[in-house]
Parts: sequence; C-alpha cells; structure tokens
Amino acid sequence: MRRLALATSLLLVSAACSDAGPAATSAPTATATTATTTTAIPATTAAEPTTTGPDSTGPPEPAGAQSLGDPYFPDLGNGGYDVIHYDIEITVDPESAALDAVTTITAVADETLATFNLDFVGLEVSSLMVDGSDAEYVRQGPELRISPDGGIVAGEEFTVTVAYSGRPQLINLISAGVQFGWLQTPEGIYVVAEPDGARTWFPSNDHPTDKATFTFRITVPKPLTAAANGALVETIDNGDSQTFVWDLDSRMATFLATLVIGEYERFESEGPEGILIRDYLPTSFNGKMPAAFEVTAEAMVFLAEWFGPFPFDRYGHIVVYELGGALENQTLSLMGSRALFDEIVVHELAHQWWGDSVTPASWQDIWLSEGFATFAEFLWTEHLRGEDAMNDQIEGLHGALQSIGHFAISDPRESQLFGPAVYWRGGMVLHALRAQVGDEVLKEIFHTYFEIYADGNVTTREFIDLAEEISGQDLTELFDAWLFAVALPDLPDG
Ligand SMILES: [Zn+2]
Repeated sequence: MRRLALATSLLLVSAACSDAGPAATSAPTATATTATTTTAIPATTAAEPTTTGPDSTGPPEPAGAQSLGDPYFPDLGNGGYDVIHYDIEITVDPESAALDAVTTITAVADETLATFNLDFVGLEVSSLMVDGSDAEYVRQGPELRISPDGGIVAGEEFTVTVAYSGRPQLINLISAGVQFGWLQTPEGIYVVAEPDGARTWFPSNDHPTDKATFTFRITVPKPLTAAANGALVETIDNGDSQTFVWDLDSRMATFLATLVIGEYERFESEGPEGILIRDYLPTSFNGKMPAAFEVTAEAMVFLAEWFGPFPFDRYGHIVVYELGGALENQTLSLMGSRALFDEIVVHELAHQWWGDSVTPASWQDIWLSEGFATFAEFLWTEHLRGEDAMNDQIEGLHGALQSIGHFAISDPRESQLFGPAVYWRGGMVLHALRAQVGDEVLKEIFHTYFEIYADGNVTTREFIDLAEEISGQDLTELFDAWLFAVALPDLPDG
C-alpha cells in the first residue's frame, strides 16, 4: 500500500488557484503564489452615488431584487430579469493592463421594473443606456442601480449598454489566501473570476444561476492574441491591432467567462464525436505540446461513459504563466504552466459536465462541482493504474483529511470554499455512493442527473433525491455521514 499519494511534482501546484489547487494527488500547502504584479484595491468602494440624467422624483418601486440570496455572497446577482446574452467589446492596453469597453446586455424582464441592478465593481462608467436611450443610474458599492425612463414592462426584452474604462481591481479569494480577477504578468493578461470576479471586468448579473450566451470582441496590439470562451469566429485586422471575435452559443455562468491576452500559437485536433479540440500554447513553448494535453480525447471518451455526452461542441486549454493551478472556464480551461499534469487535465475536463454545464445553484453547494471533478480524478487513476492504485490514492487523502480537521462539506463557509476537504471529501462522497450502489447504478445516476440538469443549476438536495430515486435505496445515512456531519466517516471496505 502506498502512503499519502503526494506526487512531489504537484507540490508546485499550490493552493493559489481556485480550482485544481488542491488537486486530488497534491498536498495541501499554505504556500500561495500570486500571479500578479498589480496592486490591490479594496474590494468594496465607498457608496458614492453618481447620477446622470434628471433627478429621480418618481416612486421607487417596482424594483428588481438587489440580491439573489446566495448565503455566502449576498452581493452577487440581482432579481427581476434574466440575462440572455452579453456582448463584451473590449480594447486592452497590455502595458497598463487598462481596458476601454462597451458591454451590451440583452435581458428579459421577469416583472415590471422601475429600477433594477447590475453587479459592477470599480472601473469608471462613461455612459449607460437602456434600449438605446441614456438612463439614470446610481453606483452603490458593488451595485449599479439603473432606473430607465418609463421603466420596463414584465416579459419585455431590453438592452443595457454600459461604456466604461480603467484597470479592473482584484478580488480577495479568502479560501486560497490570494487575490484573483484580472491578472497581469510579464507575459500577458488573464482572468480568474471564480467566484465573484466577473463583475470586476464587465457589468453583469454575477451569479451562477443566471446563465447567458456571450460574444467577446477583444482588440489588442499586434502581435498579441486574445482568447475567450467558445468559437473564434472572426479576426479583424485593424492595422496595428487586431480584433478577435469569440462567440459562445452555450449558456454560461458569469464566473466562467475568460479572457486571455498574450503571444500564443493555436493547435487543433479532432476529439470524439467530432468535438473540436483547440489548445493555445505560449509561443515560448515553441510548439511543444504538453504531454498532459495528449490525454484529452481519451479522457473525453472515458468520462462520457461515466457521465453522459460531452456537453459542448469544442474544448481545449490555454496555458498561462504564474498561475499555481487551473480553472475550468467553459470550453477553454486555463492551465497554469506549472499545472500541466494529466490529473488536472482530467479534473478541468470533468468540470465541463460538473460546474460548467450542471452548475451548483449556490456557492454553498460547491462540492457538487469540486467533489465531482475530484471523483473523476479517482476514476482516471483506476482507469490508468487499476483499482488498488485508486484505493491507495483515496486512503492517502482520507488520512490527510484526518490531520487537516473536519467540517461538513454541505456548508464549507466562504473561508473553506476551495479548501482541500471540499475536493477530497467531496470525491469520497461519490466513492462511498459507488460502493453502496455499484458501478452500473452510479452511471445511471450520473447520466440521468446530467440529462435533467445540463445547461442549468442544481442543489445538493436535488442530487440526493435523484440518487435515491434511481438506486431505489434510502441513502440518508450515507449522505448524512459524508455531507452533513462534521466527523469524517470511515472509507467503505474494498
Ligand atoms: Zn475544480
């Protein structure tokens, strides 16, 4: 038997990343690397109302809710409307890392609105229009409160166009002890937005429950490349600069929106079922494809057997420097140059099902994302090296958790949102479920779960109910022990 599965190479992968920081085979480490040369700005600016247009004299109601009630992030999200599409037109000065942008949001009102909110932090707004007309707005901390002339009628589609500029401020990721968001390195710029950084670079309904499609139009000076989620549909030559137009036609939670700028080379290959795999490597790699990326197509086939068909029509990775981990941005995972291991490739790939397509309904349910991605790593170990190797891996992590301390992963709190327990114990929940119901039933649970919740959101309760329904078993004891109790249960035999 092996002791704690500490791959020494993975010690390099610190907990800095919101994602594969605590990769299943890595040790928890307090060494956090920060990817940035930028200076932090306090997270919340003072509520200093800025108004344009005529003074508001009308009644304040009806107003969209200023929160979607996330227990950990009450600032995030707003009610009263549903975003359909974001069109983000952005020009970036790579020297200063400042941007000049116009974001147009297309939304549908769920109710009649005299006012409604967007989430937006920092950056200076120069104009704001609703349906093409200047609209009154006030900035209240991380909120942009908008009162369009005449309001919006329930059921109507409307657009909000915000022009803004400046250098995005960073977010504090408490559970990793580092700052993320819009990051600048000597090699370029990239965004790590999970969980609450999207609102630092575009105005949004910044909560995972309001998914939308996206278009990005990113202008950068030559010879830089700009990448984002979805398909590169056009590259426009402007002389000294180029505009890269990316279009994502699958709906996405805002925290998964990405933008990467640097000197890159693109590589394409065909995955299973005609899925396009496109990877972006820094030109400094001289075209040398990381070996870890070569498992992508095989892992897609392997995970599809367990989970269901791959959710999107394309996928790939983009390598960035100074990031101590990886992030599962939809259709284009961000991979730190020191995180190029196949278990991390598998982890981010699994997130395309769990986290990206099937997204936790609140940040409290994060184990539905990280636990599932970690379980995929266990499956991959078994696939490559056999059942004993997987059991050794899990036992090692179980032992490590006993020394780290326990909490109920159904309620990790913001401070442990990306802590090792959410990952490892989250993976063990599914390992224990597998031991109880068997492989075939577990696959049926996953496939049905994916079929029902793809392109949507899910709660822990919904997963438990479905697992009980499919298995025909009362799983109360199992989930109570693994999810809701503080004490760490023993691993199942075998
Ligand atoms: Zn993850």
